Amino acid sequence: MSRQSKVLRHSNDNGLTFWCPGCDGAHAIQHGTGAGPRWGWNGSAEGPTFSPSILVRYPANPDAIEEFKEWRTERVCHSFVTDGRIQFLDDCTHALAGQTVVLPDWED
Ligand SMILES: [Zn+2]
Repeated sequence: MSRQSKVLRHSNDNGLTFWCPGCDGAHAIQHGTGAGPRWGWNGSAEGPTFSPSILVRYPANPDAIEEFKEWRTERVCHSFVTDGRIQFLDDCTHALAGQTVVLPDWED
């Protein structure tokens, strides 16, 4: 992957990856033409807007320690990325559900 901007990284097949502070992990979408689901992108690397919403589900970690109880159930992250901000919807299982935050910069 090459560096696209402070908040987006470009990958093969028109992929764009951003860091999700709710999941403390990366999420990727694909835009343009090609196989699989494709998102609309406003073309801005600094203040991206993607549509439709981004829904990520991943398995629980039943071995998570007590302090991370939320990790023991299926993880859901559902968000809209608009003008460089992530709006987390209420069905997210992480602590930022219902909040809107600025897309974080990738660390070098
Ligand atoms: Zn997430």
